[in-house]
Amino acid sequence: MPDRPKHSLHRKIFIGLLAGVVLGLLANFFFAESKFLENSIRYFFSPFGQIFLRLIFMTVIPLIFCALALGVAELGDARSLGRIGLRTFGFTVVATSISVLIGITAANWIRPGDGISESGRQALMQTMTGKTVTTAVENAGKAKDWVQTLLDVIPRNPLADAALAFESGYNGGGILAVMFFALFLGVALALARSERTLVFEQWLQGMYEVVMKMIHIAMKLAPYGVAALVFSVVAKLGIDVVFTLGKYVAVVMGVLALQFFGVYGLILRLFVRVNPWHFFKAIKEVIVTAFSTSSSNVTLPTALRVTEHELGVPSKISRFVLTLGATANQNGTALYEGITVLFLAQFFGVELSFGQQMTVVFAAILAGIGTAGVPGGSLPVIVLLLQSVGVPGEGIGIILGVDRILDMSRTVINVSGDITAAAYVAKAEGAELTLRMKDEG
Ligand code: ASP
Repeated sequence: MPDRPKHSLHRKIFIGLLAGVVLGLLANFFFAESKFLENSIRYFFSPFGQIFLRLIFMTVIPLIFCALALGVAELGDARSLGRIGLRTFGFTVVATSISVLIGITAANWIRPGDGISESGRQALMQTMTGKTVTTAVENAGKAKDWVQTLLDVIPRNPLADAALAFESGYNGGGILAVMFFALFLGVALALARSERTLVFEQWLQGMYEVVMKMIHIAMKLAPYGVAALVFSVVAKLGIDVVFTLGKYVAVVMGVLALQFFGVYGLILRLFVRVNPWHFFKAIKEVIVTAFSTSSSNVTLPTALRVTEHELGVPSKISRFVLTLGATANQNGTALYEGITVLFLAQFFGVELSFGQQMTVVFAAILAGIGTAGVPGGSLPVIVLLLQSVGVPGEGIGIILGVDRILDMSRTVINVSGDITAAAYVAKAEGAELTLRMKDEG
């Protein structure tokens, strides 16, 4: 059975995650101030985790390029491309809007920024001088206006965008521009069918299979890489910081859970007509991978495999929807950005008018489409949003301590949203999914 090794890998990743948390907490408790712990994180655990992430990251551009171009070319005629494109776009806009509105409502109702004690406030403010804050603020400072942002999605030089997509502070179209080029190339490939273009299409297919193999090999490192990454974060920060920001963390987690079980659950039941519980169970490998890597892009290969094999979504649909969605359909990120802006406004005592809140809603929806699917991709976007409503961008320092755990969680929602979208589009296109409504499914 092809199932066995896969399940044991996901179990191993989960064990790696738990080991990272437990050992990290112990190390933080017993050796918090020790130089030895600091050095072993700096010279061993953190680089080891980075090796795993880099092995996957190096495959992201070729994977996105091949998967999207092939996805579009396989859709064949312009009409089905238009229909599937519209359905994907419609899903993204509706699901993202719902998630942001729930988030903003919860943040207004619970007001997590009001209840922090003065000493907690002071302690948090001290983290604001950290280097990461400065970098995030500097990057956001270089931000462009909306017209330029939209224009940059159409690349002048797609190779430059591919080369610099993961450079923090890169100001061009990045991944979105690479995606645009791949889509355009796929359309042309479908229109220019000849013997020679068929050779090129087969080459793309071959490249896709080779890249998937590279990822498969790299994933063997996942359990250890994940343990090292999680250990590095937990050993440094401990859980105190989670308690100080408890209400904020709880609101974000609560709304993420509502989006996951409530909104996706309902969409799956009503429109995809499958049992949501079975669906979540079938994609648990994706959930664990998203949670432990904090990156939609790193999770993309696993998502592609599981969506095709476990759910039975046709590969031409899953390639198109999931590859686009890894960057453009980020419901968890959008709702998180909305809540965070409101939280920090409350923290600094800035009252946002209804109009300003609507600006936040609209900007968070767009940000969900534009945020890169990489760890911490939200941070520069949040600084931008904060500055646009008159809250100091440095405020982001307050939430940096808990960002990793929230990043892990929102990435789960982002990726599950992509898979829900793929299942929805497949069903609407008349495909038979392997999951059923009934319990035996
Ligand atoms: N880490 C998230 C993702 O890859 C993006 C974010 O920072 O919100 O989906």
